[in-house]
Amino acid sequence: MMIPHSRPSIGQEEIDAVTAVLRSGQVVQGRHVAAFEEAVAAHVGVRGGIATSSGLAALHLSLLALDVGEGDEVVIPAFVCSALWNAVRFVRAVPVFADIRRETCTIDCRDVKRRLTKKTKAIIVPHMFGLSGDIRELIALGVPVIEDCAQSLGSVYEGQKTGSFGALSVFSFYATKVICTGEGGMVAGNNKDLLKKIEDLRDYDEKDDGRVHYNFKMTEMQAAMGLAQLKKLPSFLARRRALARRYSEALAAYPVLLPVCPDNRDHIYFRYLIRTQRAEEIIEAGLRGPVAYRRPVFKPLHHDQGNAALPETDAAFREAVSIPLYPALSDDEAEVILRDLQRLLGAPPGRK
Ligand SMILES: *Cc1c(COP(=O)(O)O)cnc(C)c1O
Repeated sequence: MMIPHSRPSIGQEEIDAVTAVLRSGQVVQGRHVAAFEEAVAAHVGVRGGIATSSGLAALHLSLLALDVGEGDEVVIPAFVCSALWNAVRFVRAVPVFADIRRETCTIDCRDVKRRLTKKTKAIIVPHMFGLSGDIRELIALGVPVIEDCAQSLGSVYEGQKTGSFGALSVFSFYATKVICTGEGGMVAGNNKDLLKKIEDLRDYDEKDDGRVHYNFKMTEMQAAMGLAQLKKLPSFLARRRALARRYSEALAAYPVLLPVCPDNRDHIYFRYLIRTQRAEEIIEAGLRGPVAYRRPVFKPLHHDQGNAALPETDAAFREAVSIPLYPALSDDEAEVILRDLQRLLGAPPGRK
């Protein structure tokens, strides 16, 4: 038996929605894509959304819309997936890495500030593992912010959804994300001109302005699935929070750092991270089962690129372990995970 690190929740509703699209014969850029764009924008609380083929495509188009190009600098964290680095390189800009905050693993505003130069054209702020970054402080730096909400759909900062603060925000609906369309993404925002530009860049067909365009469109099947998933988002988030509460209670007595959530925000626990000196051991044990523990980030981006000193990023990479947590996880599986983890962590101090 192996409990996977992640697993999508796909039910009859998604199967019916996609089947209906297939029967209709209208498989690209139709009413489902438009409805999904509207539904995500309404959920986030912004004026519009442009659906894309992936989160990476959404990042790429956002940088293009903000006129980020050759020689420009874009500040990003290194404790994140390489989609950010790839997007910045696609537009021939230079990724500048900033460190993260120890407590939240989100980009550290003070370190971002130190790394701003005349060439800084944008900051990409991923709301990591389901928790908002320090978005107000980051926007106050005066550089356009792209919020990366690939892991934070539905999470809230000071009463407002993540994705409603930045110049633009991006989402991913990849198989393992908060909601899933297989592959898929979106750019959302309030600035109609930027959204129009992104809509134009997304599709190359019948364009005669001499500019380069892309094919980053979403299909009707994906959008129909996305609409069905979005309806389930409240129950997905409730399940995630209930599991996180259970984990935190069960692990409270153990010598590990548990996820924290500052008072002014809500955590959706896209990932449940613990910090421990035994991270390596636990991840190794996970290869044999019964629970697939993972490093929350494959490899910090600065380990391959440049030589920025990022002590908190390195510490998180050494100490953080992601424990399986997703809506499709049963109570019995959660019990197996907790027993296994408690065994790996040893008896808590003060207990015989
Ligand atoms: C998954 C992810 C992306 C990329 O999304 P894809 O749809 O896989 O291209 C970007 N940023 C973050 C923070 C992610 O977790």
